[in-house]
Amino acid sequence: MLRASLREISAALKEGQVSPTELCQKCLSLIRATRFLNAYITVAEDTALKQAETSEKRYRQGQSLGDFDGIPFAVKDNFSTAGIQTTCASNMLKGYVPPYNATVVQKLLDQGAVLIGKTNLDEFAMGAGSTDGAFGPVRNPWSYSRQYREKCAENSSTQVEDDDWLITGGSSGGSAAAVSSFTCFAALGSDTGGSTRNPASRCGVVGLKPTYGLVSRHGLIPLVNSMDVPGILTRCVDDAATVLGVLGGHDPKDSTTVQEPFYSCRLPSLIDIKNLCIGIPKEYNTPELSSETSSVWSKAANLFEISGAKVIEVSLPHTCHSIVCYHVLCAAEVASNMARFDGLEYGHRSSADQSTETLYAATRREGFNDVVRGRILSGNYFLLKQNYENYFIKAQKVRRLIATDFAKLFNSGIDVLLTPTTLSPAVPYVEFIKEDNRTRSTQDDIFTQAANMAGLPAVSVPAALSEKGVPIGLQFIGRAFHDMQLLTVAKWFEKQVQFPVIQLQGMVDQLDAVSQKEKSAFFS
Ligand code: GLN
Repeated sequence: MLRASLREISAALKEGQVSPTELCQKCLSLIRATRFLNAYITVAEDTALKQAETSEKRYRQGQSLGDFDGIPFAVKDNFSTAGIQTTCASNMLKGYVPPYNATVVQKLLDQGAVLIGKTNLDEFAMGAGSTDGAFGPVRNPWSYSRQYREKCAENSSTQVEDDDWLITGGSSGGSAAAVSSFTCFAALGSDTGGSTRNPASRCGVVGLKPTYGLVSRHGLIPLVNSMDVPGILTRCVDDAATVLGVLGGHDPKDSTTVQEPFYSCRLPSLIDIKNLCIGIPKEYNTPELSSETSSVWSKAANLFEISGAKVIEVSLPHTCHSIVCYHVLCAAEVASNMARFDGLEYGHRSSADQSTETLYAATRREGFNDVVRGRILSGNYFLLKQNYENYFIKAQKVRRLIATDFAKLFNSGIDVLLTPTTLSPAVPYVEFIKEDNRTRSTQDDIFTQAANMAGLPAVSVPAALSEKGVPIGLQFIGRAFHDMQLLTVAKWFEKQVQFPVIQLQGMVDQLDAVSQKEKSAFFS
């Protein structure tokens, strides 16, 4: 039952095959059994069970609120949740309990969905591995999958040792791990430079970054206001479209959401790609791209071509500047956003309070990790009067050129771009942390950042398993506000690929709390 899609589980709830409370309890036991993944910072057990009970009452009285009523979902811990701690995986906000819900959280709760917990991330969503948070790194469920274990045994005749576990990618790694290990049916992430798509691709789930301005950012603790978008992580493309249907639309509390009404729709089941024109950006074929990912990408392009779509090589000449440009703009906005954490109003306050200056300095030194502090420092440097023109203004101009590259392609008849999501599939944690984390967090989003700078919708879809049995995702980028068209193409692709459902064989041993009967239901 936990493997079901949103539509299937909703049908099961409506037909009374399972009750909201049973469903909630099942998810909670699986969360307990998979605690070693470190996917959740806070499990909202009590409130979730209360919400499930209320939903159950509605079903009993024939007053269900619709397709989401009683369905457990998880939320990245950088969205405000009323009465539930919201930490941004930072010592700065440990124990901070917001008084209100982010709009996207409220919208799901209004549909009767059950908030099961808050997921782990890189501190303040700065990172690409989910390894840099104050609550420790997130483990990729695929490290414990049957596929991964069998492949490792085949190749080296050794078992997967505890040290061999893989990163999830980030920064929404907790949400990706939660969805891919079946502890919830959908999760919210955030995407500023790739943080939803990157972990989705590494955990074998779908990760959607909607068009900037379509989904409210109210209550999403800001990283880069001009690029942040709430992201959606699900196990299939249809589910992502269903969640977007609830979240999309104008919010008076976020002036950057567009006024036009948003019409969500169910994605068609029969999809014709004959008139579709797919662009393959040649600049994305970088030397750092792993050969496995590159070959999956070419195979996907061929698949579209032999199925009747027009596939052409295109150019995005300014994309090569996107990493540098992103990091000037990101640091500048971070420097300004983080100024609010000064030990006076929110969260942590240092005891070194001889003067206001020492209080600020000590609070921020104790509260932030080195990635966050590094970005604050460089951002303030870029914004100095003598540097502003040379860095911030220049980066804004380059950002415009990057966006214009996309606009030209979409105006010339390209419908969707097909690219890799990440340079390589998930790597073992021990490999990942060899590099300095400040450098690492700036390099990994080479294929995803440009869509944030241009405000375009983009989705990562699981495409294949690597030789080791680890997921490889591909990214589709679409026209602004054509999110549903983008998802339709993604759905067509998903159907052809038939990505294998994860077999979390290794986890079975850890399921002490779950009865034998339930075990076979989870893993059969
Ligand atoms: N890895 C990028 C960064 O560290 C993107 C993060 C994000 O999308 N939240 O800034």
